[in-house]
Amino acid sequence: MQYRCPKCQSPKVMPVASANTPAVRPVVPKSLVILIPALFILLFLVLVSIAMWIFGDGAGSTVQIATVIAFVICVLAGIMFWRDLPNFKISMQAFMNSNKDWKCRECQHEWHIQ
Ligand SMILES: [Zn+2]
Repeated sequence: MQYRCPKCQSPKVMPVASANTPAVRPVVPKSLVILIPALFILLFLVLVSIAMWIFGDGAGSTVQIATVIAFVICVLAGIMFWRDLPNFKISMQAFMNSNKDWKCRECQHEWHIQ
């Protein structure tokens, strides 16, 4: 299995979708779909809170409640993702093995695995 560029040996390779050999898509767990936007929302709310502490007289109660809710969602999604992780790894490995076309992000070299 080739996970490195055969030309420049860079590990920064990415799968290329090909029309004639459609790769098996990895099954992305729902917890990850929740976790990523939840983390962004939490980060945004934390930044808003910090900005309110600096420029005002503390974060408003609405922002504080929203931050706590976002934090709880992140923790729950994080636990769910932790449990989904073994299956996700297997799914990702199957995807990596089934994908035949690769491209290097370093030197733009493209190659095909037999
Ligand atoms: Zn390369």
